[in-house]
Order: sequence, then structure tokens, then C-alpha cells
Amino acid sequence: MSLASGRHYLAIPGPSVIPDRVLGAMHRAAPNIYQGELVEMMPGLVRDLRRVARTEAANVAIYIANGHGAWEAANANLFSRGDRILSAVTGHFGNTWALSAKNMGVDVEVIDFGTQPLQPARIEEALRADDAHRIKAVFVTHTDTATTIRNDIAAVRKAMDAAGHPALLVVDAIASLGCDPLHFDDWGIDVLIGASQKGLMTSPGLSFLWFSDKALAASEGSGLVTPYWDWKLRSQSTEFYRYFGGTAPTHHLYGLREALAMLLDEEGLEAAWARHAALASCVWATFEAWSRNGDIALNVGDRSLRSHSVTGARIGNGGAVRLREWLEKKAGVTLGIGLGMAAPTDPAYGDYLRIAHMGYVNAHMTLGVLAALEAGMRSLGIPHGTGGLDAAAQAIAEAV
Ligand SMILES: *Cc1c(COP(=O)(O)O)cnc(C)c1O
Repeated sequence: MSLASGRHYLAIPGPSVIPDRVLGAMHRAAPNIYQGELVEMMPGLVRDLRRVARTEAANVAIYIANGHGAWEAANANLFSRGDRILSAVTGHFGNTWALSAKNMGVDVEVIDFGTQPLQPARIEEALRADDAHRIKAVFVTHTDTATTIRNDIAAVRKAMDAAGHPALLVVDAIASLGCDPLHFDDWGIDVLIGASQKGLMTSPGLSFLWFSDKALAASEGSGLVTPYWDWKLRSQSTEFYRYFGGTAPTHHLYGLREALAMLLDEEGLEAAWARHAALASCVWATFEAWSRNGDIALNVGDRSLRSHSVTGARIGNGGAVRLREWLEKKAGVTLGIGLGMAAPTDPAYGDYLRIAHMGYVNAHMTLGVLAALEAGMRSLGIPHGTGGLDAAAQAIAEAV
């Protein structure tokens, strides 16, 4: 039999769960785009986008695009064909991002850390070797959603400063924004990339660039930019329609307005960070118990390098793929596929899954996913250590 009837839970790392209040805010007749509420909402929305990135004064451009669109927007504004960048890759998303620049004619030097965390010293070394200061930017993914490694951005900035190199620090925080602590100003980030559908709890379709005045100055004369993607036009508008280069994404803006109010004014950003840390430690404690028997392991060994918004794990002998199917059919939960840990043609591809605990997620949702996983392991006869659910309950009890 199946026990999947009831509210389905999409526990994948984006799109994340959209709060009913955000859906409700979007459920309205098309608003006036010339004047009134929507137009008046813009300055507050930009202010709150600065708050969520912890920046006082960064420029903000909003694009009607997903994260891949924001990658290209950043590339277009920053670079000309033949410009050189350094890309520190710790998983599938870092790789794809680097490829987006390469495909636009940028000369990309990749330091591939494979499925291991980034070593800032390697970035320092590569920058020191660039005597002519040809490297215009360093790309770092904050949380690589595939490996679920979370990189230390402040340490990368330190390494760049130690090398005395003027390159811009460009950070993809699509999977971490609103979930993991992130400080645009204090960490010396020059360009930050975010999107609506993960920690920001809104449907896919909006993405954001925050950029320093230094990045703005460096972008002058870049050869790849076209008017639609020009971040000056998107960020320095006096007329409403110019923010979007055409019709505003009206309903997305209402959804985002509600989501940012929930995150910043009701829960509070630091409380949301703490909630994500607690839910993550609950997932880790459970997997640590399960992994004492059988072929189960978290992707990232070191706790301090694990994402707080998504956890990747290996459950051998195709256990991960069988569990994903079981949870979908029997328990009403969809988990994320393993991404980039093994090639889709490799039998090991079925050994990886990801659990999102990102955005609008609370203790009972995460406990429910973990209990459903344990039920699935029992039903499918997948060997696992005992005490996982005890550990989960204990982690929550200790966190609150
Ligand atoms: C989800 C994600 C992306 C891609 O975003 P899309 O909206 O799917 O284009 C890029 N980078 C990271 C780190 C992500 O988690």
C-alpha cells in the first residue's frame, strides 16, 4: 500500500517549499504597473535585498531569469572576450558556472577541487603566479548544491588580499542565501549572485546581482554586455519599468515582498540562519548513526564545511535511488537526485541523494523526512546503523 496521500513535500534543493502566504500574495488580479502599490513597493524591495545580503550600499539588479541567467548577466557585465578569470570548483554547480563564462568567450582557469573543499592557499598561489594581473575575477560557489560543500568566503578574500591581487571576488550564493550566514560587506564580496527559489522561498524566475562600486567601475567598457542585461540600467532606474527592461514580473514581486517580510521582519535573518543550522545538525546526527552499519556516508566529512541548507549522502548498492523512489511512492516526499558525484552512466550514480532543509522548513518537516527514510530502509532491507531517529530527536531537543 501507499501512504503518500496528504500534503506532498518536495525536499529538493530548489525549488524549495513556497509558503502559502507567498502563494497567496501572488494570487491576485494583474496589478497596475504605472503607479500605485507595486511601483511604490520597489525601493523597499531593493532595501530588503540589501538586508538579506548584509550590505549597506551594494548596487542591486533584479533579473527575470533563473540562476543560470544571473550567471550570464554577471559574465556579460564584467567581461570582454579573452578576459581571464580564476574559477575555484567544488562541485557540479561551480563547473557549470565556469562553463557559462567559457562559452561566452572568457578564458577560464579552473582549480578543480573535485568533491573536496576549496583550499584558499591554492587560490593565493594562482593569483601570485599572475604577475601581470590578467585575472579579472575569482569565482567561488558558497554552497555547491551538488557536493553540498560550503566554502569559507572570508578565507578566500583573505587569500586574495594576501596575494595583493586586484581581481574581483564573485560569489554564487544561490543555495545559501537566507539559510547560511553571508556578509557581503564584511567578507569583501564584489559580486553576489542569488535567485528566488531556494532560501528566498519564492517561485523560480527571479535572480539577483549585488555588486560593489568597484565591480561597477571594473565593468565599464566590458565587451559582452547588451542593454537588456546591463546592470547599470537594471540597478540605477528612476522609472519603474526600467528596473526590468520591460514589463515587471508583477506576481513574482508580490511573492518576494511577502517572503522577505517573513524572513527579515518576522523570523529575523539570524534566527533563520540558526534554524537552518539546527535542522542541518539534526540531519547529520541521524546519518552519523545510520552510517555506523552498512554502506552509508555523508558527502562532506568535516561538519564545518557542510551546507546548512542541503545535505548530500551516499547509500551504497543503489540504495539512494531505491529510497528516493520509495519515499516518493509510499511517503509523499521527493528527495533530490545525486548530482555530479558519479556520472549518470556509472552504476554508482544510484548511490547518491540529497535532502534539502532549505527555506520554509521546520523541525517536523525535517524529522518527517528522516523518519520516512528510516521506514524506507527497513521496508527495502537497506542495512543501516540503529539510533538514527533517537539522534534526530536529540539534536532537535538540544537545539531549542
Ligand atoms: C540552483 C543553483 C544554481 C542554478 O540555478 P537555476 O535557477 O536552476 O538556474 C546555480 N548555482 C547554485 C549554487 C545553485 O544551487
